[in-house]
Amino acid sequence: MDSSSCHRYCYLNTRKRLPTKPERNSQIKLVLFDMDGVLVDSISSWRHVHTHFSTNNDHAVKAYVQGKITDNEFIRHDVNQWKQDGQHIFKKELQSIFSTITLMNGAQTCIQQLQKYDVQIGIVSAGIDVLANKVATILNIPLVYANELETDLNGQLTGEGKVHVPLMQKDAVVEQIAYQLHLHQGEIAAVGNSCFDIPLLRSVGFGIAFQPDDDCIISEADEVVYKKDLTKVFNHLQPFLSKKKK
Ligand SMILES: [Mg+2]
Repeated sequence: MDSSSCHRYCYLNTRKRLPTKPERNSQIKLVLFDMDGVLVDSISSWRHVHTHFSTNNDHAVKAYVQGKITDNEFIRHDVNQWKQDGQHIFKKELQSIFSTITLMNGAQTCIQQLQKYDVQIGIVSAGIDVLANKVATILNIPLVYANELETDLNGQLTGEGKVHVPLMQKDAVVEQIAYQLHLHQGEIAAVGNSCFDIPLLRSVGFGIAFQPDDDCIISEADEVVYKKDLTKVFNHLQPFLSKKKK
């Protein structure tokens, strides 16, 4: 793995060893998309909210990748920064904060093309569920796995969250999905853009790095798309898809 261009602490030192990549099946039955930097043209939904509130989570990210704080502590830290000065934040406010985020070029076409085939589609994102649910509704994607921000009875953020997708452990989410859908992991394809998607690409039969944000994901991918156009992802998947039975 070439990590020469990366000067950050590598989270792969923190987590358990990576899974052994399953053999690719001749038919792909499920495609899982990362959200931030893949389905949407924004590098991080968390960072987007921080920018809105003029806050910064660099310190917490560093502590998290070093294994010093858990996923739940990470969420608590972020939300409490947004609530600085004691202000209350309604979850629905996040909808308008995310309204400036656009879909990735070619996202609509890529998903519409996939929907003509006998293949399931899902989102696996360590980003915020508010944005993931919005993207899933627009693109008509039925399976959504993202991180949930807890609210009180008034709809205000409590500062707690439910971690459905640990940033450093997307392979565990793939295992859970494969079990629930009765699929072999070799029948799954995944698309990601950052080093945190290495466990995602390693746990499926066909991994695509899209607009790689980190060099280290390139050698872990079966295909790499450098052009900012998700229809190129469809082109790579098509040979492994079956038409829907009429
Ligand atoms: Mg991403």
